[in-house]
Amino acid sequence: MSIDVRTDYGKLKLLIDGGWVESESPELGAVFDPGRGARIAQVPFALPEEADRAVESAQRAFEEWREVPILERVKHLHRLKDVLERNADGLVTINTQNHGKTLEESQGELKRCIENVDVAIAVAYTLAKGDTLDQIADGIDVSMTKEPLGVFSIVCPFNFPLMVAFWFLPYALVLGDTLIVKPSELTPVPMQRLVELVQESGVFPPGVLNLVHGGRQVVERLIANRDVRGVTFVGSTPVARQIYRLAGENGKRAIANGGAKNSVLVMPDADLAGSMSNMVSSFFGNSGQRCLAGANLIPVGGVHDALLARFTAAALSLKVGYGLDPGVEMGPLVSEKARTRVSMYVESGVAEGAKPVSDGRTLKVLEYPDGFYLGPTVLDGVTPEMRVAKEEVFGPIASVIGAESLDQAIEMINGSTNFGNMACIYTSSGRSAREFRRRVDAGNVGVNIGVAAPSAYYPFGGRRDSFYGVLHAQIDTVEFFTDKKVTISKW
Ligand code: NAD
Repeated sequence: MSIDVRTDYGKLKLLIDGGWVESESPELGAVFDPGRGARIAQVPFALPEEADRAVESAQRAFEEWREVPILERVKHLHRLKDVLERNADGLVTINTQNHGKTLEESQGELKRCIENVDVAIAVAYTLAKGDTLDQIADGIDVSMTKEPLGVFSIVCPFNFPLMVAFWFLPYALVLGDTLIVKPSELTPVPMQRLVELVQESGVFPPGVLNLVHGGRQVVERLIANRDVRGVTFVGSTPVARQIYRLAGENGKRAIANGGAKNSVLVMPDADLAGSMSNMVSSFFGNSGQRCLAGANLIPVGGVHDALLARFTAAALSLKVGYGLDPGVEMGPLVSEKARTRVSMYVESGVAEGAKPVSDGRTLKVLEYPDGFYLGPTVLDGVTPEMRVAKEEVFGPIASVIGAESLDQAIEMINGSTNFGNMACIYTSSGRSAREFRRRVDAGNVGVNIGVAAPSAYYPFGGRRDSFYGVLHAQIDTVEFFTDKKVTISKW
Protein backbone atom coordinates (compact mmCIF):
# COMPACT_ATOMS: atom_id res chain seq x y z
CA MET A 1 0.00 0.00 0.00
CA SER A 2 1.60 3.28 -1.02
CA ILE A 3 -0.48 5.67 1.07
CA ASP A 4 -0.94 5.51 4.79
CA VAL A 5 -4.28 4.96 6.44
CA ARG A 6 -4.57 7.14 9.50
CA THR A 7 -7.04 7.56 12.30
CA ASP A 8 -6.82 11.36 12.04
CA TYR A 9 -6.51 13.21 8.74
CA GLY A 10 -6.61 16.62 10.45
CA LYS A 11 -8.24 19.62 8.83
CA LEU A 12 -8.69 19.06 5.11
CA LYS A 13 -7.32 21.58 2.63
CA LEU A 14 -8.43 23.06 -0.65
CA LEU A 15 -6.45 22.60 -3.86
CA ILE A 16 -6.39 25.86 -5.79
CA ASP A 17 -4.07 26.61 -8.69
CA GLY A 18 -1.91 23.59 -7.94
CA GLY A 19 -1.29 24.52 -4.29
CA TRP A 20 -2.83 23.34 -1.02
CA VAL A 21 -4.65 26.12 0.76
CA GLU A 22 -5.92 26.23 4.32
CA SER A 23 -9.48 27.54 4.23
CA GLU A 24 -10.05 30.67 6.28
CA SER A 25 -13.61 29.67 6.98
CA PRO A 26 -14.52 29.45 10.67
CA GLU A 27 -17.10 26.78 9.85
CA LEU A 28 -15.85 23.21 10.20
CA GLY A 29 -17.66 19.88 9.99
CA ALA A 30 -16.69 16.62 11.69
CA VAL A 31 -15.89 13.71 9.35
CA PHE A 32 -16.45 10.22 10.75
CA ASP A 33 -15.35 6.65 10.40
CA PRO A 34 -18.94 5.36 10.71
CA GLY A 35 -17.86 1.80 11.52
CA ARG A 36 -16.19 2.99 14.74
CA GLY A 37 -18.31 6.10 15.22
CA ALA A 38 -15.04 8.03 15.57
CA ARG A 39 -14.06 11.40 14.14
CA ILE A 40 -11.24 11.12 11.59
CA ALA A 41 -11.04 14.59 10.04
CA GLN A 42 -12.43 18.10 9.97
CA VAL A 43 -13.82 19.52 6.77
CA PRO A 44 -13.88 23.26 6.16
CA PHE A 45 -16.97 24.85 4.65
CA ALA A 46 -15.05 27.01 2.19
CA LEU A 47 -15.81 30.70 1.85
CA PRO A 48 -17.44 32.04 -1.31
CA GLU A 49 -14.28 34.00 -2.15
CA GLU A 50 -12.27 30.75 -1.92
CA ALA A 51 -14.65 29.20 -4.46
CA ASP A 52 -14.08 32.25 -6.67
CA ARG A 53 -10.31 31.79 -6.43
CA ALA A 54 -10.69 28.17 -7.52
CA VAL A 55 -12.72 29.31 -10.52
CA GLU A 56 -10.14 31.99 -11.43
CA SER A 57 -7.42 29.37 -11.35
CA ALA A 58 -9.45 26.93 -13.46
CA GLN A 59 -10.27 29.66 -15.97
CA ARG A 60 -6.59 30.62 -16.33
CA ALA A 61 -5.60 26.97 -16.71
CA PHE A 62 -8.31 26.46 -19.34
CA GLU A 63 -6.67 28.92 -21.74
CA GLU A 64 -3.61 26.64 -21.94
CA TRP A 65 -5.23 23.25 -21.34
CA ARG A 66 -7.57 23.66 -24.31
CA GLU A 67 -4.53 24.21 -26.56
CA VAL A 68 -2.83 20.97 -25.44
CA PRO A 69 -3.34 18.49 -28.32
CA ILE A 70 -5.95 15.92 -27.37
CA LEU A 71 -3.52 13.02 -27.74
CA GLU A 72 -1.26 14.77 -25.22
CA ARG A 73 -4.21 15.16 -22.85
CA VAL A 74 -4.73 11.41 -23.21
CA LYS A 75 -1.26 10.90 -21.76
CA HIS A 76 -2.35 12.81 -18.63
CA LEU A 77 -5.29 10.42 -18.31
CA HIS A 78 -2.96 7.45 -18.58
CA ARG A 79 -1.02 8.94 -15.65
CA LEU A 80 -4.27 9.38 -13.72
CA LYS A 81 -5.11 5.73 -14.31
CA ASP A 82 -1.64 4.77 -13.15
CA VAL A 83 -2.14 6.72 -9.89
CA LEU A 84 -5.46 4.93 -9.30
CA GLU A 85 -3.97 1.51 -9.99
CA ARG A 86 -0.75 1.99 -8.02
CA ASN A 87 -2.62 3.27 -4.98
CA ALA A 88 -5.63 0.99 -5.23
CA ASP A 89 -5.18 -0.70 -1.85
CA GLY A 90 -4.77 2.55 0.06
CA LEU A 91 -7.65 4.29 -1.68
CA VAL A 92 -9.97 1.33 -1.18
CA THR A 93 -9.09 1.21 2.51
CA ILE A 94 -9.64 4.92 3.06
CA ASN A 95 -12.91 4.76 1.13
CA THR A 96 -14.12 2.00 3.42
CA GLN A 97 -12.87 3.81 6.48
CA ASN A 98 -14.72 7.05 5.70
CA HIS A 99 -17.89 5.61 4.14
CA GLY A 100 -18.32 2.33 5.99
CA LYS A 101 -18.92 0.08 2.97
CA THR A 102 -17.03 -3.22 2.72
CA LEU A 103 -13.60 -3.51 1.13
CA GLU A 104 -15.10 -5.48 -1.74
CA GLU A 105 -17.62 -2.70 -2.37
CA SER A 106 -14.83 -0.10 -2.34
CA GLN A 107 -12.85 -2.25 -4.77
CA GLY A 108 -15.88 -2.30 -7.10
CA GLU A 109 -16.12 1.48 -6.79
CA LEU A 110 -12.47 1.99 -7.72
CA LYS A 111 -12.85 -0.39 -10.67
CA ARG A 112 -15.62 1.87 -12.00
CA CYS A 113 -13.37 4.93 -11.64
CA ILE A 114 -10.71 3.23 -13.75
CA GLU A 115 -13.29 2.06 -16.28
CA ASN A 116 -14.43 5.66 -16.77
CA VAL A 117 -10.83 6.79 -17.33
CA ASP A 118 -10.43 4.05 -19.95
CA VAL A 119 -13.62 5.07 -21.73
CA ALA A 120 -12.64 8.76 -21.64
CA ILE A 121 -9.36 7.80 -23.31
CA ALA A 122 -11.32 5.96 -25.98
CA VAL A 123 -13.49 9.07 -26.45
CA ALA A 124 -10.41 11.02 -27.53
CA TYR A 125 -10.00 8.68 -30.50
CA THR A 126 -13.68 8.45 -31.40
CA LEU A 127 -16.52 10.65 -30.14
CA ALA A 128 -14.39 13.77 -29.72
CA LYS A 129 -14.27 14.05 -33.51
CA GLY A 130 -16.41 16.46 -35.48
CA ASP A 131 -18.06 16.12 -38.87
CA THR A 132 -17.94 17.66 -42.32
CA LEU A 133 -20.13 17.78 -45.38
CA ASP A 134 -18.64 19.08 -48.61
CA GLN A 135 -20.54 20.89 -51.33
CA ILE A 136 -23.66 21.57 -49.31
CA ALA A 137 -24.29 24.19 -51.96
CA ASP A 138 -22.20 25.24 -54.90
CA GLY A 139 -18.65 25.72 -53.54
CA ILE A 140 -19.83 25.68 -49.94
CA ASP A 141 -18.67 23.22 -47.27
CA VAL A 142 -19.89 22.72 -43.72
CA SER A 143 -17.87 21.47 -40.76
CA MET A 144 -18.76 20.85 -37.15
CA THR A 145 -16.17 20.75 -34.37
CA LYS A 146 -16.71 19.91 -30.72
CA GLU A 147 -15.08 22.55 -28.54
CA PRO A 148 -14.46 22.53 -24.79
CA LEU A 149 -16.26 25.34 -23.01
CA GLY A 150 -14.19 26.16 -19.94
CA VAL A 151 -14.70 25.61 -16.22
CA PHE A 152 -17.17 23.06 -14.83
CA SER A 153 -17.97 22.12 -11.26
CA ILE A 154 -18.68 18.60 -10.07
CA VAL A 155 -20.77 18.24 -6.90
CA CYS A 156 -20.72 14.78 -5.32
CA PRO A 157 -22.90 12.76 -2.91
CA PHE A 158 -21.60 10.88 0.12
CA ASN A 159 -22.38 7.36 -1.02
CA PHE A 160 -19.68 6.87 -3.69
CA PRO A 161 -16.92 9.17 -2.47
CA LEU A 162 -14.68 8.41 -5.47
CA MET A 163 -16.79 6.94 -8.26
CA VAL A 164 -19.41 9.62 -8.85
CA ALA A 165 -16.77 12.25 -9.64
CA PHE A 166 -15.35 9.82 -12.21
CA TRP A 167 -18.67 9.72 -14.08
CA PHE A 168 -17.61 13.20 -15.23
CA LEU A 169 -14.00 14.07 -14.41
CA PRO A 170 -12.03 12.09 -17.02
CA TYR A 171 -14.36 13.14 -19.85
CA ALA A 172 -14.21 16.86 -18.99
CA LEU A 173 -10.43 16.80 -18.73
CA VAL A 174 -9.69 14.82 -21.87
CA LEU A 175 -12.00 17.09 -23.84
CA GLY A 176 -10.11 20.21 -22.68
CA ASP A 177 -12.29 21.65 -19.90
CA THR A 178 -11.02 22.40 -16.39
CA LEU A 179 -12.66 21.46 -13.09
CA ILE A 180 -13.59 22.23 -9.55
CA VAL A 181 -14.57 19.11 -7.62
CA LYS A 182 -16.69 19.45 -4.46
CA PRO A 183 -16.93 16.17 -2.48
CA SER A 184 -19.63 15.48 0.09
CA GLU A 185 -18.86 16.96 3.48
CA LEU A 186 -19.64 13.54 5.02
CA THR A 187 -17.10 11.57 2.99
CA PRO A 188 -14.45 13.97 1.67
CA VAL A 189 -11.35 12.03 2.76
CA PRO A 190 -11.02 9.53 -0.15
CA MET A 191 -11.18 12.29 -2.79
CA GLN A 192 -8.81 14.46 -0.75
CA ARG A 193 -6.26 11.61 -0.68
CA LEU A 194 -6.72 10.85 -4.36
CA VAL A 195 -6.18 14.50 -5.33
CA GLU A 196 -3.09 14.60 -3.09
CA LEU A 197 -1.70 11.61 -4.96
CA VAL A 198 -2.60 13.10 -8.33
CA GLN A 199 -0.88 16.31 -7.25
CA GLU A 200 2.24 14.56 -5.95
CA SER A 201 2.59 12.72 -9.27
CA GLY A 202 2.14 15.94 -11.26
CA VAL A 203 -0.63 14.39 -13.32
CA PHE A 204 -2.20 17.69 -14.44
CA PRO A 205 -0.85 21.22 -14.83
CA PRO A 206 -1.77 23.63 -11.99
CA GLY A 207 -5.38 24.82 -12.04
CA VAL A 208 -6.72 22.09 -14.34
CA LEU A 209 -8.15 20.14 -11.39
CA ASN A 210 -9.16 22.08 -8.25
CA LEU A 211 -10.73 20.78 -5.05
CA VAL A 212 -12.98 22.73 -2.70
CA HIS A 213 -14.93 21.57 0.35
CA GLY A 214 -18.18 22.75 1.84
CA GLY A 215 -21.92 22.65 1.31
CA ARG A 216 -24.73 24.73 -0.07
CA GLN A 217 -22.99 28.10 0.06
CA VAL A 218 -19.95 27.05 -1.91
CA VAL A 219 -22.01 25.13 -4.48
CA GLU A 220 -24.32 28.08 -5.08
CA ARG A 221 -21.35 30.41 -5.46
CA LEU A 222 -19.75 28.09 -8.00
CA ILE A 223 -22.92 27.98 -10.07
CA ALA A 224 -23.37 31.73 -9.94
CA ASN A 225 -19.77 32.49 -10.91
CA ARG A 226 -19.74 33.90 -14.44
CA ASP A 227 -16.80 31.75 -15.57
CA VAL A 228 -18.38 28.44 -14.58
CA ARG A 229 -20.02 27.02 -17.70
CA GLY A 230 -21.90 24.16 -16.12
CA VAL A 231 -22.44 21.92 -13.12
CA THR A 232 -22.88 18.22 -12.63
CA PHE A 233 -24.71 17.26 -9.48
CA VAL A 234 -25.48 13.87 -7.95
CA GLY A 235 -27.44 13.76 -4.69
CA SER A 236 -30.92 13.89 -3.23
CA THR A 237 -33.94 14.99 -5.23
CA PRO A 238 -34.77 18.24 -3.41
CA VAL A 239 -31.20 19.48 -3.89
CA ALA A 240 -31.02 18.21 -7.49
CA ARG A 241 -34.15 20.18 -8.33
CA GLN A 242 -32.75 23.29 -6.65
CA ILE A 243 -29.42 22.98 -8.49
CA TYR A 244 -31.17 22.50 -11.83
CA ARG A 245 -33.30 25.59 -11.22
CA LEU A 246 -30.30 27.67 -10.13
CA ALA A 247 -28.26 26.54 -13.13
CA GLY A 248 -31.15 27.52 -15.41
CA GLU A 249 -31.49 30.93 -13.79
CA ASN A 250 -27.78 31.51 -14.29
CA GLY A 251 -27.83 30.26 -17.88
CA LYS A 252 -25.60 27.26 -17.11
CA ARG A 253 -25.61 23.69 -18.34
CA ALA A 254 -26.62 21.13 -15.73
CA ILE A 255 -26.79 17.40 -15.21
CA ALA A 256 -28.67 16.82 -11.95
CA ASN A 257 -29.13 13.25 -10.72
CA GLY A 258 -31.57 12.92 -7.81
CA GLY A 259 -32.76 10.26 -5.40
CA ALA A 260 -34.49 6.96 -6.03
CA LYS A 261 -37.08 4.45 -4.90
CA ASN A 262 -36.35 1.33 -6.87
CA SER A 263 -38.70 -1.60 -7.29
CA VAL A 264 -37.66 -5.20 -7.75
CA LEU A 265 -40.41 -7.37 -9.17
CA VAL A 266 -40.34 -11.16 -8.81
CA MET A 267 -42.49 -13.28 -11.14
CA PRO A 268 -43.73 -16.74 -10.16
CA ASP A 269 -41.41 -18.24 -12.82
CA ALA A 270 -38.26 -16.61 -11.37
CA ASP A 271 -35.28 -18.79 -10.46
CA LEU A 272 -35.33 -17.96 -6.74
CA ALA A 273 -32.41 -20.13 -5.71
CA GLY A 274 -30.16 -18.84 -8.48
CA SER A 275 -31.11 -15.18 -7.95
CA MET A 276 -31.08 -14.82 -4.19
CA SER A 277 -27.58 -13.51 -3.51
CA ASN A 278 -27.91 -11.04 -6.36
CA MET A 279 -31.35 -9.90 -5.14
CA VAL A 280 -30.28 -9.54 -1.52
CA SER A 281 -27.22 -7.54 -2.53
CA SER A 282 -29.53 -5.12 -4.38
CA PHE A 283 -31.30 -4.24 -1.10
CA PHE A 284 -28.48 -4.51 1.41
CA GLY A 285 -25.25 -3.89 -0.53
CA ASN A 286 -23.64 -0.60 0.54
CA SER A 287 -26.15 -0.86 3.44
CA GLY A 288 -28.90 0.18 1.05
CA GLN A 289 -27.14 3.49 0.39
CA ARG A 290 -27.04 3.16 -3.39
CA CYS A 291 -29.15 5.09 -5.84
CA LEU A 292 -29.56 1.69 -7.52
CA ALA A 293 -30.54 -0.13 -4.32
CA GLY A 294 -33.72 -2.17 -4.33
CA ALA A 295 -36.28 -0.64 -1.95
CA ASN A 296 -39.68 -2.17 -2.78
CA LEU A 297 -39.74 -5.93 -3.32
CA ILE A 298 -42.81 -6.91 -5.34
CA PRO A 299 -43.74 -10.61 -5.46
CA VAL A 300 -46.29 -11.25 -8.21
CA GLY A 301 -49.04 -13.85 -7.70
CA GLY A 302 -48.30 -16.90 -5.59
CA VAL A 303 -44.52 -16.45 -5.23
CA HIS A 304 -44.89 -14.33 -2.08
CA ASP A 305 -44.36 -16.96 0.64
CA ALA A 306 -41.48 -18.80 -1.01
CA LEU A 307 -39.76 -15.53 -1.86
CA LEU A 308 -40.20 -14.03 1.60
CA ALA A 309 -38.81 -17.13 3.31
CA ARG A 310 -35.70 -17.32 1.13
CA PHE A 311 -35.11 -13.57 1.02
CA THR A 312 -35.39 -13.11 4.79
CA ALA A 313 -33.11 -16.06 5.49
CA ALA A 314 -30.49 -14.71 3.08
CA ALA A 315 -30.77 -11.20 4.57
CA LEU A 316 -30.37 -12.48 8.12
CA SER A 317 -27.32 -14.52 7.15
CA LEU A 318 -25.37 -11.42 6.08
CA LYS A 319 -22.42 -10.67 8.33
CA VAL A 320 -22.78 -7.05 9.47
CA GLY A 321 -19.71 -5.33 10.87
CA TYR A 322 -16.76 -3.01 10.37
CA GLY A 323 -15.93 -2.78 6.67
CA LEU A 324 -12.18 -3.12 7.25
CA ASP A 325 -12.59 -6.47 9.02
CA PRO A 326 -12.36 -9.62 6.88
CA GLY A 327 -15.56 -11.48 5.99
CA VAL A 328 -17.89 -8.54 6.62
CA GLU A 329 -20.73 -8.39 4.08
CA MET A 330 -22.56 -5.26 5.19
CA GLY A 331 -21.21 -2.15 6.90
CA PRO A 332 -22.82 0.64 8.95
CA LEU A 333 -24.85 3.62 7.78
CA VAL A 334 -22.88 6.75 7.05
CA SER A 335 -23.90 8.74 10.15
CA GLU A 336 -25.89 8.63 13.35
CA LYS A 337 -28.37 10.97 11.67
CA ALA A 338 -28.84 8.48 8.82
CA ARG A 339 -29.41 5.63 11.30
CA THR A 340 -32.04 7.65 13.17
CA ARG A 341 -33.75 8.59 9.90
CA VAL A 342 -33.84 5.00 8.59
CA SER A 343 -35.11 3.70 11.95
CA MET A 344 -37.88 6.29 11.78
CA TYR A 345 -39.02 4.78 8.47
CA VAL A 346 -39.15 1.30 10.04
CA GLU A 347 -41.26 2.74 12.86
CA SER A 348 -43.58 4.54 10.47
CA GLY A 349 -44.03 1.36 8.38
CA VAL A 350 -44.90 -0.67 11.46
CA ALA A 351 -47.26 2.07 12.70
CA GLU A 352 -49.03 1.97 9.33
CA GLY A 353 -49.51 -1.80 9.54
CA ALA A 354 -46.40 -3.40 8.03
CA LYS A 355 -44.98 -6.51 9.69
CA PRO A 356 -41.24 -6.56 10.50
CA VAL A 357 -40.12 -10.06 9.50
CA SER A 358 -36.57 -8.99 10.28
CA ASP A 359 -35.91 -5.82 12.30
CA GLY A 360 -32.42 -4.39 11.90
CA ARG A 361 -32.91 -1.98 14.80
CA THR A 362 -32.21 -4.83 17.21
CA LEU A 363 -28.77 -5.58 15.74
CA LYS A 364 -25.69 -4.88 17.85
CA VAL A 365 -22.09 -5.07 16.61
CA LEU A 366 -20.43 -5.75 19.94
CA GLU A 367 -16.84 -4.97 18.93
CA TYR A 368 -17.85 -1.51 17.69
CA PRO A 369 -20.50 -0.19 20.07
CA ASP A 370 -20.17 3.40 18.76
CA GLY A 371 -20.59 2.50 15.06
CA PHE A 372 -23.74 3.53 13.16
CA TYR A 373 -25.05 0.02 12.51
CA LEU A 374 -28.54 -1.03 11.48
CA GLY A 375 -29.16 -4.60 10.32
CA PRO A 376 -31.04 -5.84 7.24
CA THR A 377 -34.74 -5.15 7.71
CA VAL A 378 -37.61 -6.83 5.89
CA LEU A 379 -41.12 -5.38 6.22
CA ASP A 380 -43.94 -7.54 4.92
CA GLY A 381 -47.49 -6.42 4.15
CA VAL A 382 -46.43 -2.96 2.95
CA THR A 383 -48.92 -1.10 0.76
CA PRO A 384 -48.06 1.49 -1.90
CA GLU A 385 -49.62 4.32 0.13
CA MET A 386 -47.30 3.89 3.13
CA ARG A 387 -44.48 6.41 3.59
CA VAL A 388 -41.90 3.62 3.68
CA ALA A 389 -43.09 2.54 0.21
CA LYS A 390 -43.17 5.98 -1.36
CA GLU A 391 -40.25 7.98 0.01
CA GLU A 392 -36.54 7.38 -0.43
CA VAL A 393 -35.23 5.72 2.75
CA PHE A 394 -31.61 5.12 1.69
CA GLY A 395 -30.93 2.32 4.13
CA PRO A 396 -31.13 -1.48 4.45
CA ILE A 397 -34.92 -1.89 4.33
CA ALA A 398 -36.87 -4.10 1.95
CA SER A 399 -40.59 -3.28 1.79
CA VAL A 400 -42.54 -6.25 0.48
CA ILE A 401 -45.62 -5.19 -1.51
CA GLY A 402 -47.66 -7.94 -3.17
CA ALA A 403 -49.12 -7.60 -6.70
CA GLU A 404 -51.57 -9.86 -8.51
CA SER A 405 -50.20 -9.55 -12.01
CA LEU A 406 -47.37 -8.11 -14.08
CA ASP A 407 -49.74 -5.37 -15.30
CA GLN A 408 -50.67 -4.35 -11.79
CA ALA A 409 -47.03 -4.36 -10.67
CA ILE A 410 -45.93 -2.14 -13.58
CA GLU A 411 -48.77 0.28 -12.88
CA MET A 412 -47.76 0.38 -9.23
CA ILE A 413 -44.11 1.07 -10.09
CA ASN A 414 -45.01 3.83 -12.52
CA GLY A 415 -47.72 5.34 -10.34
CA SER A 416 -46.92 5.04 -6.67
CA THR A 417 -43.77 7.18 -6.58
CA ASN A 418 -42.40 9.82 -8.88
CA PHE A 419 -38.88 8.38 -8.90
CA GLY A 420 -37.54 6.67 -12.02
CA ASN A 421 -33.98 5.59 -11.39
CA MET A 422 -34.10 1.80 -11.68
CA ALA A 423 -36.57 -1.06 -11.89
CA CYS A 424 -35.75 -4.78 -12.01
CA ILE A 425 -37.59 -7.96 -12.88
CA TYR A 426 -36.70 -11.54 -12.00
CA THR A 427 -38.33 -13.98 -14.41
CA SER A 428 -37.56 -16.86 -16.77
CA SER A 429 -40.01 -15.52 -19.35
CA GLY A 430 -38.56 -13.44 -22.17
CA ARG A 431 -42.05 -12.15 -22.87
CA SER A 432 -42.55 -10.81 -19.33
CA ALA A 433 -39.07 -9.31 -19.34
CA ARG A 434 -39.68 -7.54 -22.65
CA GLU A 435 -43.07 -6.23 -21.52
CA PHE A 436 -41.50 -4.94 -18.32
CA ARG A 437 -38.52 -3.32 -20.06
CA ARG A 438 -40.74 -1.48 -22.51
CA ARG A 439 -43.40 -0.25 -20.11
CA VAL A 440 -41.57 0.58 -16.93
CA ASP A 441 -40.84 4.31 -16.49
CA ALA A 442 -37.26 4.12 -15.19
CA GLY A 443 -33.89 4.98 -16.71
CA ASN A 444 -32.00 1.81 -15.71
CA VAL A 445 -33.66 -1.59 -16.02
CA GLY A 446 -32.41 -4.92 -14.67
CA VAL A 447 -33.52 -8.30 -15.97
CA ASN A 448 -32.47 -10.96 -13.47
CA ILE A 449 -29.99 -8.33 -12.21
CA GLY A 450 -30.66 -6.41 -9.00
CA VAL A 451 -28.24 -3.52 -9.44
CA ALA A 452 -28.57 -2.38 -13.06
CA ALA A 453 -25.47 -0.16 -13.11
CA PRO A 454 -24.58 0.81 -16.69
CA SER A 455 -20.93 0.40 -17.62
CA ALA A 456 -19.05 3.59 -18.47
CA TYR A 457 -19.59 3.25 -22.23
CA TYR A 458 -23.34 3.71 -21.63
CA PRO A 459 -25.17 6.65 -20.09
CA PHE A 460 -26.20 6.32 -16.46
CA GLY A 461 -29.98 6.63 -16.82
CA GLY A 462 -32.60 8.23 -14.61
CA ARG A 463 -36.05 9.74 -15.13
CA ARG A 464 -38.79 11.73 -13.44
CA ASP A 465 -37.65 12.99 -10.00
CA SER A 466 -34.49 10.91 -10.21
CA PHE A 467 -32.98 13.07 -12.93
CA TYR A 468 -33.18 16.63 -14.21
CA GLY A 469 -31.52 17.31 -17.52
CA VAL A 470 -31.12 15.75 -20.95
CA LEU A 471 -27.62 14.31 -21.13
CA HIS A 472 -26.68 11.70 -18.56
CA ALA A 473 -23.49 10.76 -16.71
CA GLN A 474 -20.61 8.72 -18.22
CA ILE A 475 -20.43 8.52 -22.02
CA ASP A 476 -23.20 11.12 -22.57
CA THR A 477 -21.02 13.77 -20.98
CA VAL A 478 -19.02 14.01 -24.21
CA GLU A 479 -21.86 16.20 -25.49
CA PHE A 480 -22.22 17.98 -22.13
CA PHE A 481 -18.56 18.98 -21.85
CA THR A 482 -18.28 20.18 -25.44
CA ASP A 483 -20.21 22.55 -27.62
CA LYS A 484 -20.77 22.00 -31.33
CA LYS A 485 -19.43 24.80 -33.49
CA VAL A 486 -20.59 24.81 -37.10
CA THR A 487 -18.51 26.56 -39.76
CA ILE A 488 -19.80 27.21 -43.28
CA SER A 489 -17.02 27.99 -45.76
CA LYS A 490 -16.76 29.19 -49.32
CA TRP A 491 -13.38 29.70 -50.95
P1 NAD B 1 -27.30 15.50 -0.74
O1 NAD B 1 -28.29 16.02 -1.72
O2 NAD B 1 -27.54 15.74 0.70
O3 NAD B 1 -25.86 16.15 -1.03
C1 NAD B 1 -25.22 16.01 -2.29
C2 NAD B 1 -24.21 17.13 -2.47
O4 NAD B 1 -24.90 18.39 -2.53
C3 NAD B 1 -23.20 17.25 -1.35
O5 NAD B 1 -21.95 17.55 -1.92
C4 NAD B 1 -23.71 18.41 -0.51
O6 NAD B 1 -22.68 19.12 0.14
C5 NAD B 1 -24.39 19.29 -1.55
N1 NAD B 1 -25.54 20.03 -1.04
C6 NAD B 1 -26.38 19.66 -0.02
N2 NAD B 1 -27.39 20.55 0.09
C7 NAD B 1 -27.18 21.48 -0.86
C8 NAD B 1 -27.90 22.66 -1.25
N3 NAD B 1 -29.00 23.04 -0.64
N4 NAD B 1 -27.42 23.38 -2.28
C9 NAD B 1 -26.30 23.00 -2.93
N5 NAD B 1 -25.59 21.89 -2.61
C10 NAD B 1 -26.02 21.14 -1.58
O7 NAD B 1 -27.12 13.95 -1.06
P2 NAD B 1 -26.30 12.87 -0.22
O8 NAD B 1 -27.03 12.57 1.03
O9 NAD B 1 -24.87 13.25 -0.15
O10 NAD B 1 -26.38 11.60 -1.20
C11 NAD B 1 -27.42 10.67 -1.19
C12 NAD B 1 -28.43 10.97 -2.24
O11 NAD B 1 -27.81 10.93 -3.53
C13 NAD B 1 -29.55 9.96 -2.31
O12 NAD B 1 -30.76 10.65 -2.49
C14 NAD B 1 -29.21 9.13 -3.53
O13 NAD B 1 -30.31 8.50 -4.15
C15 NAD B 1 -28.59 10.15 -4.41
N6 NAD B 1 -27.76 9.57 -5.44
C16 NAD B 1 -28.24 9.57 -6.71
C17 NAD B 1 -27.52 8.99 -7.73
C18 NAD B 1 -28.06 8.98 -9.12
O14 NAD B 1 -27.33 8.66 -10.02
N7 NAD B 1 -29.31 9.31 -9.33
C19 NAD B 1 -26.27 8.42 -7.45
C20 NAD B 1 -25.79 8.45 -6.14
C21 NAD B 1 -26.55 9.02 -5.14
